[in-house]
Amino acid sequence: MAFRFWCGECGFKTAWLAESEGAKRQLEHYAKKHPGILAGGHVETNRRNPQGSSGCLQAAGILVLLLILAAACRH
Ligand SMILES: [Zn+2]
Repeated sequence: MAFRFWCGECGFKTAWLAESEGAKRQLEHYAKKHPGILAGGHVETNRRNPQGSSGCLQAAGILVLLLILAAACRH
């Protein structure tokens, strides 16, 4: 499963990446381009390379939430 993270503030999107890597890139983009703004946007998934399960997806969603919270706490 590949993930593409879209910025909620501008047209930025990451390349197709592993979930954790994409989330990191999106947070880096926010830190550089939208300092002080809570990371938002949405995640696009690509099922061309299926290897995850629904349980994995849920874990990924929780991880994204944690990353966003961690980013918010840093400001
Ligand atoms: Zn942006």
